[in-house]
Amino acid sequence: MPESLSRELLTLIDTCNEFVANVMNPAAEHPTDAARALIRAGAKDVGLFPMTQPTDFGGSASSALALCVARETLCSHNPSYLDAVFGPSPGVLANVKDPLYSSHLRPLLAGTIRGSFGFTEPDDAAHPTAGIIQGNELIINGQKSYVTGGADADFINTLVDIKGRGSSLVVINTATAGVALERRFTALDGSHHAAFKFTDVTVPTAHIIGEPGQGLPKAMRQIGDTRLLFAAQASGYMLWTINLLNTHLLGIDKSGKPRGSQNVVRLRYADLRIKAFAARSMLYRTARLADQGQNIVNEAMACKVFATEAVGEIVDTAIQLVGGGALVEDHPLAKLYQKVRTWRLAEGASDVLRLNIGRGILELGKGRI
Ligand SMILES: Cc1cc2nc3c(=O)[nH]c(=O)nc-3n(C[C@H](O)[C@H](O)[C@H](O)COP(=O)(O)OP(=O)(O)OC[C@H]3O[C@@H](n4cnc5c(N)ncnc54)[C@H](O)[C@@H]3O)c2cc1C
Repeated sequence: MPESLSRELLTLIDTCNEFVANVMNPAAEHPTDAARALIRAGAKDVGLFPMTQPTDFGGSASSALALCVARETLCSHNPSYLDAVFGPSPGVLANVKDPLYSSHLRPLLAGTIRGSFGFTEPDDAAHPTAGIIQGNELIINGQKSYVTGGADADFINTLVDIKGRGSSLVVINTATAGVALERRFTALDGSHHAAFKFTDVTVPTAHIIGEPGQGLPKAMRQIGDTRLLFAAQASGYMLWTINLLNTHLLGIDKSGKPRGSQNVVRLRYADLRIKAFAARSMLYRTARLADQGQNIVNEAMACKVFATEAVGEIVDTAIQLVGGGALVEDHPLAKLYQKVRTWRLAEGASDVLRLNIGRGILELGKGRI
């Protein structure tokens, strides 16, 4: 597993394995900024950085399968600073024309400005983030509560309900008058986020991405691509955890026998392998469907739900089998436990995705088994 990979993809796996050993692990010894810079430079050298970037911008616009293979392989080493490996991708800005092309997309891909994504709103928001068009301007009021990287971002791709037009994605520069960074916070996995309030924020209507009213489907497509990569990442961490467990179970316990010789341990361990096998099978099948140009919205949701729940169970059970030592706070399993917990909410809560899968099949006739 996975079988039938092309020669190029097998080479990509080798590249990723060598990259972790020769670049990521040594870089992790340096302070954060230096580590990221070393990883970014190394990733450019070996062709990992441009995989997520379009060819017009010097990228290699890799296939969904290649991106999954690369992400899974890197994560199977539980590396630090994974986010420094791949270049910024266009996301919802793909296909924008001028002025957004020159003002935001080009500098984003060049790494000179940073973007973020504003979708989630606070539970107690008085109303959804809303906009009114007046001439060539759009006036926005509202709140976004969970913007990853928002405190360091130059702009937020924001979901706004525009009066008379519907949900739209709008580029809001964080330095615009009326944009207030209300709170910075760190999630359980160590990732950084921000909450924003918009009070009469005025942006040109040219900052509306694509057609007004098409924001929600556009945002959903973008989240869909990201969900498959989440599944690939989860799959890589499953491999890492199971490898760690293999070593542990082949070790000798106090009775002088291998720890994995007890049937009760083997049953638990086999369950984890079954889950990992299923998650990886779904992932590779779905990536191949995506590369055939098929709509994988439902399958990507299924992969994300299954893989993120499976990795949670795998890490949890691994801790149980390794014992109390795995709960010491700097133990890699203890850290991974915190990291994987966030994935069942990020990019869509598991139960909400389940409801969407049900609706896709029962109401819209979309999705396959
Ligand atoms: C690490 C991390 C990074 C994130 N990054 C971003 C980001 O960059 N941009 C962004 O906009 N958001 C981001 N989020 C927020 C994330 O998208 C939301 O947390 C997630 O969509 C759930 O929304 P919520 O927190 O408002 O919870 P809620 O929507 O209140 O959901 C909580 C629970 O309520 C139930 N529920 C909710 N809706 C329904 C429904 N329709 N039907 C039935 N049950 C329901 C489900 O059980 C769900 O688990 C991030 C979250 C995390 C953890």
